[in-house]
Amino acid sequence: MYSVAIDGPAGSGKSTIAKLIAHKLNISYIDTGAMYRAIALKTLRQGDLQEQSLQQLLEDTRIDYDRGKIYLDGRDVSQDIRGDEVSAQASKISKNPALREYLVGIQQQIAQKRSVVMEGRDIGTVVLPRAKYKFYLTADVDTRAKRRYEQLLAKGTKTTLEEVKASIEQRDDNDINREHSPLKRAEDAILVDNTHMDLHQTLDYILDKVRGENAL
Ligand code: C5P
Repeated sequence: MYSVAIDGPAGSGKSTIAKLIAHKLNISYIDTGAMYRAIALKTLRQGDLQEQSLQQLLEDTRIDYDRGKIYLDGRDVSQDIRGDEVSAQASKISKNPALREYLVGIQQQIAQKRSVVMEGRDIGTVVLPRAKYKFYLTADVDTRAKRRYEQLLAKGTKTTLEEVKASIEQRDDNDINREHSPLKRAEDAILVDNTHMDLHQTLDYILDKVRGENAL
């Protein structure tokens, strides 16, 4: 059993890459951002959540992750968690240490049972510090904004490049500057700046590193 940890800022291509790597290696893909989003969705649905009641909400919540789908209290919410409002809320609540502890526990349990490609912000640093392979994926902010904007356009979402860039910058700022488990490259993670790389180049680069060492 082994783990591949992929971290990086919003729009760096983590999800797409991690999914493809997992497929190529024939192991599970785990999107930890989906878990933060599912809790964010629940807080939005409940409305008017006080800081101290997040703990209570967690006690009354069940999160399951199975074959790329996220379940909140038994319901598949994989589609519902993708909106802008949920993105902003996830970014906001993810600084909460009780929430992080709760989700990190779930993520570590999953990785104990099977080989995984797990992606997020703190996988190489906190969740799986002993992961066999660690990558930190990034690209300059304009490139990330443009990619995300094109994805949203393709989905028919009405937005502007400026709005998307502002939202990415806000989320980066929250993730990098929070006190608990901030977004940062683990010392032993391989830095992959894909500003000038396309999807296939990035994928090949990562697969070469993994397979080169392991001859998978
Ligand atoms: O990866 P994604 O953009 O879906 O994640 C949503 C939010 O959840 C991020 O903006 C980040 O604040 C938070 N997150 C986190 N730690 C992770 C994964 C996501 O704090 N491991």
